Amino acid sequence: GLSTIPGMTDTLRRPIRELPDELISQIAAGEVVERPASVVRELVDNALDAGARQITVRLAAGGVRAILVEDDGGGIAAAELPLALRRHATSKIDTLQDLEQVGTMGFRGEALAAIGSIAELSITSRTPDDGHALRIDARTGEISPAARAVGTTVEVRELFFATPARRKFLKTDATELAHCLEAVRRHALARPAVGFAVWHEGRLVEQWRPTTLEQRLRDVLGLDFMAASREVLAQVGPLVVRGRVGLPEAARARADLQYAYVNGRHVRDRLVAHGVRSAYEDVLHGSRQPSYVLFIDITPERVDVNVHPTKIEVRFRDSREVHQAVRRAVEGALALSRTADAALPPD
Ligand code: ADP
Ligand code: MG
Repeated sequence: GLSTIPGMTDTLRRPIRELPDELISQIAAGEVVERPASVVRELVDNALDAGARQITVRLAAGGVRAILVEDDGGGIAAAELPLALRRHATSKIDTLQDLEQVGTMGFRGEALAAIGSIAELSITSRTPDDGHALRIDARTGEISPAARAVGTTVEVRELFFATPARRKFLKTDATELAHCLEAVRRHALARPAVGFAVWHEGRLVEQWRPTTLEQRLRDVLGLDFMAASREVLAQVGPLVVRGRVGLPEAARARADLQYAYVNGRHVRDRLVAHGVRSAYEDVLHGSRQPSYVLFIDITPERVDVNVHPTKIEVRFRDSREVHQAVRRAVEGALALSRTADAALPPD
């Protein structure tokens, strides 16, 4: 019977209980935090939402030992520090209507609670109204005075110490560092006015100074990409598509230079990828992969970002409209012309 299945022993006819808060957060963390880079992404999202102009990421052992994200944003008021660590506590939305047109990277109020349940976490923060900073420790809830300029530092140590199963899936420090760098790179491409720096084991490994979009793309993706790509700038219906697309002859064997953003949020979207791909269909053969960085701006009502806990996936109200806009914008940039309408990818 059922009791012979490993792990199923004695699970029959046990009473229903409400899970403790801590366990709920740990379960949520399973969805949101796959590896150190997931933490970096969440913390940088928060720094950007706080209006930071400069964000510094400090890592130890590829982020497994330590992740510190420092920003010069608006900070967290002393009275709200414990709330920042609470599940489903957020300053970013109030109503369902806000959710329909969310303009911030975060809104679920889950990240800090989730991370704090699977790692050691502390927040040090100071608002412009405070005489000094305060530090809160997530495990004890203790608050103590600290030294810091206006802004916030979130410190995460010993990720997955309590969940060895997850910890086992981590790769080498070098690989985890590469994923962390990629997470910062994705933000850096979309936020050229913000400065980013990444340190690993006390060594500066990447730095992008505040600049224009054009210069940021050059800084992050390199001169070779700039030389072998064309600018995209098109308004198609209610969509604006901006960025750069690689020339067909510069296509690569691997899909490792493909960045898509919807309203400033990095997404992995089949529809967008297919729209780009279809613009190249007559000029790119076999499995060669186009390079691109595309920023799609669309009125918030036409896209649902509350589809996936990590918000990496979005849902468009009119997918045909998005597909065609992307395809036309890319074709226009490459000066390719088509007559036939693109076929949508199967659902
Ligand atoms: P969310 O970003 O979805 O609101 P989080 O758990 O990531 O949820 O953060 C909870 C709250 O803590 C945020 O709504 C914000 O008010 C505050 N917060 C977190 N990080 C920062 C930061 N770097 N600067 C200022 N406020 C922050
Ligand atoms: Mg957040």
